[in-house]
Amino acid sequence: MDGRIADAGASGHRLPIRWGDTRSHETTFLGGGVSPVLMGYDAVLLDNDGIITRMTDRAVLARAVRGAFRDLGVRDPDPADVDALVVGVTPELLEEIAGRYDLDPAEFWYRRDLRSSMVQIRELRSGKKALYDDVAALADIPLPMGIVSSNQHRTIEAILEHYDLQDRFGTYYGREMDPASLARKKPATHYLDLAVADLGASEPIFVGDSESDIQAAAAAGMDSVFVRRDHRDGFDLAVSPTYEIASLSELPRILNGDPRPTH
Ligand SMILES: [Mg+2]
Repeated sequence: MDGRIADAGASGHRLPIRWGDTRSHETTFLGGGVSPVLMGYDAVLLDNDGIITRMTDRAVLARAVRGAFRDLGVRDPDPADVDALVVGVTPELLEEIAGRYDLDPAEFWYRRDLRSSMVQIRELRSGKKALYDDVAALADIPLPMGIVSSNQHRTIEAILEHYDLQDRFGTYYGREMDPASLARKKPATHYLDLAVADLGASEPIFVGDSESDIQAAAAAGMDSVFVRRDHRDGFDLAVSPTYEIASLSELPRILNGDPRPTH
């Protein structure tokens, strides 16, 4: 199967290499400098959870939400409310749930994010929030790279430090721990735009494992790569990424403008 989504060109996505448009081309030597390769992209931005590190179990994150309720004196929150605050929280939902318990949304959200970050850092140190093996393939990509995550910024910082990846990424963004950040996270382009500006990129590509990653990339006018890892097996994407791959080890091939499958 061709790695490139068949209708990506027709739906308005840029082709990765536009022959004849020399302005966007850069001649780069890959594979030990054996052959010159035309690169269509000048930066790679990646999601974190499900791409760089494994995702954290919902049960662990739910524990952090219950802890935040407890911090503010709510001993027995509705399990449905706890579940709703684990992932994909909108400012409106936060407002509604906090209001139901007579909590200040900003104070509650800060506790929720802080506890969520703390449990994830604990998972990191115990080896449960592991790095995917194929992250090693990023070393073969001679382009500036960055991370744009909807996780807390402090969590992303801890991950990069724990796995000694600070030098790999020229910039990285997670959310601030306030309700306003919920409107800025993907699928919004806010943090993507900041990362692109930091890297000075004009032809970036975004790599993610969620619909919101692909939506954010499209909204920012960027091409995208959907990585269908095991946890996305059978997952029906409602939006079309420019490429779909099974592993980051296929990423250097795409960036070389060669969408042929490796298997
Ligand atoms: Mg993800």
